[in-house]
Amino acid sequence: MTRTYQPSLFETQRLTLDGAIDLSLASLAAYGNQYRHWALAYSGGKDSSATVTCVAWAIQTGRVPAPASLTVLYADTRMELPPLQRSAMRLLERMTRDGIRTQVVLPSLNDRFFVYMFGRGVPPPKNRFRWCTPHLKVEPMMHALKALSDRINIDSEQREKFLMLTGVRLGESAARDQRIALSCSKDSGECGQGWFQSSTDAQIADTLAPLVHWRVCHVWDWLYFGAHGYDEVRDLAVVYGNGDIRTGCTGCNLVDRDTALERLVETDEWAHLAPLMALKPLYRELKQPQHRKRKPGGERRKDGKPAKNQQRLGPLTMEARAFGLARVLDIQARAGVDLINAEEEARIRELWALDTWPNKWTGDEPNGDEPVPRVEVTDAGVLVSQELLV
Ligand code: SF4
Repeated sequence: MTRTYQPSLFETQRLTLDGAIDLSLASLAAYGNQYRHWALAYSGGKDSSATVTCVAWAIQTGRVPAPASLTVLYADTRMELPPLQRSAMRLLERMTRDGIRTQVVLPSLNDRFFVYMFGRGVPPPKNRFRWCTPHLKVEPMMHALKALSDRINIDSEQREKFLMLTGVRLGESAARDQRIALSCSKDSGECGQGWFQSSTDAQIADTLAPLVHWRVCHVWDWLYFGAHGYDEVRDLAVVYGNGDIRTGCTGCNLVDRDTALERLVETDEWAHLAPLMALKPLYRELKQPQHRKRKPGGERRKDGKPAKNQQRLGPLTMEARAFGLARVLDIQARAGVDLINAEEEARIRELWALDTWPNKWTGDEPNGDEPVPRVEVTDAGVLVSQELLV
């Protein structure tokens, strides 16, 4: 069926960038003056870069009253694409010089991507097992926000709330419809931003997404041609080009293609990052049964009933972890980047020495590719086993 484009009644009233900025200023003025302390969740991607620069510009030019404190919290997953990381660090340095408080927020050592995967043995994340966003972004950010809150409330009996500003952007029509979509794994969404919006502890902070109604063209026009004066963000074009692509961790396993990295390695400046293209195939390989443990048949839940997903595949075997670590160290050496640093590698090896496995696994389970009798749960909730025919 051919889809035809049907203009809406409001077609002629689409927001210009100036109109979008006016709405953002109005929302900052309306909500902002109810909070003395603001924090900005920054990931280095285009939406949060636009948010950070817009808010800083609005305050510096007196368009919105300055809060008593403004802190930019940069969620450094240690998995960022190098040019995005570089422009984020430059922007933070510049903002610090301009008198804005900035803070780099890192995941705890045990929760870093490769430590959690190779040290603890948790398999690569996927859509239905997305452990990475909470571990790498949301929990560290919430922890940092709580610490900030503790600091400003040290002498007060009643906790004063922060205003947490995020880069969630739904676009003009969705914002008008008030459809709040928190998914941040598709199209141009910025991983983590929707989670910050939904996970912030209401005792600590309320959240506001001042650019929620901006279209992607507003974001680009603002970053490249806006009057914000932060040239540091213009580097983002190298990664995004003219496309409306999603960025996130290098080799993110939750998208089909790492289009940002693909674009990047075609440029002269970043062609040396080509070995990073081997990360996604490595994650695919590690998900195979021969690299995993498998629950023995007959597993029961706490209430005694048989678990539904009998004989499920689980953590990475110790051999797979060693294989994965060696492969990533080789990739980082060839790409000239820092994926696993000395502290992280030491922690991974320490966790191996401690025979660490994810919760509910001991390492004594059979390997995923061992032939075993098949166990299933019938509709009546009874365990049945089908012996191997050899
Ligand atoms: S960008 Fe991908 S790998 Fe990184 S936290 Fe988000 S979903 Fe996970």
